[in-house]
Amino acid sequence: MKPLFSSSVLDWFDLHGRKNLPWQRVKSVYNVWISEIMLQQTQVATVIPYYQRFMQSFPDVSALADASLDDVLSHWAGLGYYARARNLHRAAQMIRDDYALEFPRDIDHVIDLPGIGKSTAGAILSLALNQKHAILDGNVKRVLARYHRIEGWAGHTRVLNQYWQYAERYTPLNRVADYNQAMMDLGSMVCTRSQPQCERCPLNRSCEAHRYQQESSFPLPRPKKPQLIKQTKMLMLCNEQNNVLIQQRPPVGIWGGLWSLPECAPDEDIYAFVETHFGQKIKTITEWETVRHTFSHFHLDITPIKAVVDDPVSRVMEADASVWYNTEPTKKKQHRGFAAPVKRLLERLEMQFQDQSQNEIRREYE
Ligand code: SF4
Repeated sequence: MKPLFSSSVLDWFDLHGRKNLPWQRVKSVYNVWISEIMLQQTQVATVIPYYQRFMQSFPDVSALADASLDDVLSHWAGLGYYARARNLHRAAQMIRDDYALEFPRDIDHVIDLPGIGKSTAGAILSLALNQKHAILDGNVKRVLARYHRIEGWAGHTRVLNQYWQYAERYTPLNRVADYNQAMMDLGSMVCTRSQPQCERCPLNRSCEAHRYQQESSFPLPRPKKPQLIKQTKMLMLCNEQNNVLIQQRPPVGIWGGLWSLPECAPDEDIYAFVETHFGQKIKTITEWETVRHTFSHFHLDITPIKAVVDDPVSRVMEADASVWYNTEPTKKKQHRGFAAPVKRLLERLEMQFQDQSQNEIRREYE
């Protein structure tokens, strides 16, 4: 056992740790919970504005539980990994219905809430209530992997158990909240993924990777699988009033519950597809350049197709969760959550509509 581990980390925290993040200023279980979910797979600087907007709209469990999923997703749009938002919403409803709006204090009950694993539960209860629980997020794993030169990928149970053993061994009895925050800070500020700043690290005298100058060799990455590429055509069906047809996606799966554009297979005949599914005839069609959106496990190559249809009276059925959406900001229906690439396409479309109407005004005065 390396006896000075936790005290060295705590001494470093006193001088350099983060103590003034928005969720640290007014510390409550709710604030810490929301921040911990947002911080999964996302960096602090990106999270801060999202956190602030989210807390303005949903200041407590009750507000979050009573909100519509659409509203919650619209606050999440751009942060990615939307299952986090759906789970957060479901968990808030469980806390309202099963725990009378009191966040559970027992770690097993916390782990039972949707979207909360062992490390996140430990982080919430330790950071907010100073309960003694170890944490093991990506930053902590990196520090431990280098410190002990842990062989193997953390996705394998045997290796993961080894990580947990170290994490639990070093978690002190006192100042657990500070220690866990310190480990996260150390991983994100000093023991960074590339070019760790070992000269500033409180663990540098006993870190094995540093001793053997093998910092970049740990942690071991996930064994490589070929990255899958999927393709789709996204249809921007516009009517003559410059409305574009949007559809709500099913609640589970990629971009679950968010609003998106109709899609069809790359080899589909667009004219026939639009007529069959929407009862519309296409007047003009333009293909935009393909854009790539990368998910954690595949790339999605999106070819946007702008198609102006001839019938302003839509035969599109509301039962399909399809609506005509006006891209003009003043007419925009608020609280619709769009996935990031869809939002960018709609913004580009809006700019085209604006240019078009300015040209028409100019022509009137010529
Ligand atoms: S000494 Fe370097 S590699 Fe080791 S834990 Fe510190 S920053 Fe990471």
